[in-house]
Amino acid sequence: MVKKKYLLSFTPAIVNEPLTYKMIKEYDLLVNILRAEVSERGGRLLIEVEGKPSQMNKGISFLKNAGVEVRELNEYVSRDEDRCTDCGACLSICPADAFEMDKQTWKVLFKGDRCIACGLCIDTCPPRAMKLRIW
Ligand code: SF4
Ligand code: SF4
Repeated sequence: MVKKKYLLSFTPAIVNEPLTYKMIKEYDLLVNILRAEVSERGGRLLIEVEGKPSQMNKGISFLKNAGVEVRELNEYVSRDEDRCTDCGACLSICPADAFEMDKQTWKVLFKGDRCIACGLCIDTCPPRAMKLRIW
């Protein structure tokens, strides 16, 4: 089993089609919707998907073939290392434990692969070192 996060973008023509539901049903995947947004320009869905790798690939291909733009999430949450002051404010607020204090150096490490893009650290970080580029 693998778990991955994706940002799905739907054009207005397909935003009302139950494509995510069909993917879940046909490819036996578990999907957790982390964030959703619909506007006149279409819709965006931030999801976490869990399942067998082969089924995951088939499910994602199904979405792409249906016209959904699919992007893996990790590349969209980043930290500007030059701005981070290792203040630690993000350590307790992150629901995904994506920050860790290195007890040797007292540096705050960012584990981007754990991030679920909730956005909480964006407002919490005093020097605005965290960047969420998808919403
Ligand atoms: S966006 Fe949310 S999950 Fe990601 S690092 Fe920030 S607080 Fe943690
Ligand atoms: S809140 Fe910002 S500056 Fe402070 S440790 Fe976290 S990322 Fe670095």
